[in-house]
Amino acid sequence: MISIVGNDMLISTVQNFIKEKRIPHAILIEGDYGTGKHTLANYLCNAIVCGEENSPCKKCHNCHLASINSHPDITVILPEDNKKNIAISQIRNLRNEAFIKPHQAQKRVFVIDCADTMNDQSQNALLKVLEEPPQTVMFILIAENKSSLLDTIISRCVCLTLNTPEFSVGFEYIKSKTDFKEELIKEALTLEKCNIGRALNFLNGVSSSKTEAAAKDYLEAAINGDQFTMLKTVLPFSKNRVDADNFIKDLKYLIAKKIRKSPNSSLSKALMSLYGTMPEFEDSLLTNINLNLLFCNLTTKATQLIRRNK
Ligand SMILES: [Zn+2]
Repeated sequence: MISIVGNDMLISTVQNFIKEKRIPHAILIEGDYGTGKHTLANYLCNAIVCGEENSPCKKCHNCHLASINSHPDITVILPEDNKKNIAISQIRNLRNEAFIKPHQAQKRVFVIDCADTMNDQSQNALLKVLEEPPQTVMFILIAENKSSLLDTIISRCVCLTLNTPEFSVGFEYIKSKTDFKEELIKEALTLEKCNIGRALNFLNGVSSSKTEAAAKDYLEAAINGDQFTMLKTVLPFSKNRVDADNFIKDLKYLIAKKIRKSPNSSLSKALMSLYGTMPEFEDSLLTNINLNLLFCNLTTKATQLIRRNK
């Protein structure tokens, strides 16, 4: 059995697919960072390669290999080192490999992680094999946001969307799994809008996002009143909304962390006001605001608030 907190309905659908041996040949798992996409994908892969009646049985050789990420019939495709996107050559390789028979399981499964980083050309290349897949092949696409995928891809997949849980459910879950104080758990869940993965990262003091380093530089520059560096730092994130959103989330996280370090300093008071204005910027990301303008506004606001409270 698998459990992804706050997604009981979806998990029971997945269990039924497996029990009735009708796992769709193409699945798209969608959800924000930290909602359990990889947990679900790993579980499905394991269920696909396990040949036993109650798959995944967790006892057979196939299950053992899947559990140590070494099953020859599970292939994971990700953007290659230092690249932002999955390259078309990777999809062409996948297409060739898809016609090779499974090595030891009944089926082969290809996991396309960060599927939303494929450009249109790569997606069209994938479409050819999604439309007429070999009988022994299954696909699992993982994406934070399916809106970057072509409709033709989405329509070939069964979509499983993972949601963040209710506050109380998330709270009980983290409480049962960790030793953090209740107040701290509540703070983390509020800050991270009930996203369990992000809340746990917050509690553990780790942000896994690539935007964290930039957010750190931005905050330091804001404290020094250096608008030029702030604007320069934020420039790479003003090209698309996902990056901008991640940047703002990381910035919020870093501000909260700094406030926690010395809650009574005058800087913390300034940061507290800045923290209070962040939802305004998060909300404006949902509109069609120009991102350069959004970051200009944020930069002006941040330096003003910090200067005023110093
Ligand atoms: Zn098994």
